[in-house]
Amino acid sequence: MLPLPELTAENTAFWTGGERGELMIALCDACGKAVHPPQLLCPACGSQQVAPRAMAGTGTIHTFTVNHQPWLPDMAVPFVLAVVDLDDAPGVRVTTRMIDCDPQAVRIGQRVTIAFEQSGDVWLPLWRPIAEGEAA
Ligand SMILES: [Zn+2]
Repeated sequence: MLPLPELTAENTAFWTGGERGELMIALCDACGKAVHPPQLLCPACGSQQVAPRAMAGTGTIHTFTVNHQPWLPDMAVPFVLAVVDLDDAPGVRVTTRMIDCDPQAVRIGQRVTIAFEQSGDVWLPLWRPIAEGEAA
């Protein structure tokens, strides 16, 4: 639906982790900082000990927008783009599309979990709401 990202040494883990159902975020082994978007060098301490790690894949909506404009002919609207604070990577926000949700019901502070959609060599990370009472 959106143009696919080009895979690089830095971002391959992020874009292909969905094959195993894992949200991969690069972490610096030297200082512990999460490095996102992924880079091979830690911007905080300059260490090259940066490696992708599987996250829990849960978070909280920081902000969102409802898109009503079909940017491409096959794009279904409206859809929600959400900026999500990850539970286990402080400071990291992942922006992506929401699925399985009523755009009218999305709210800031809502709990979400990752879901993946394969498109060629890439597993797009998408967010879906965590249902009331669902363990996550
Ligand atoms: Zn570092």
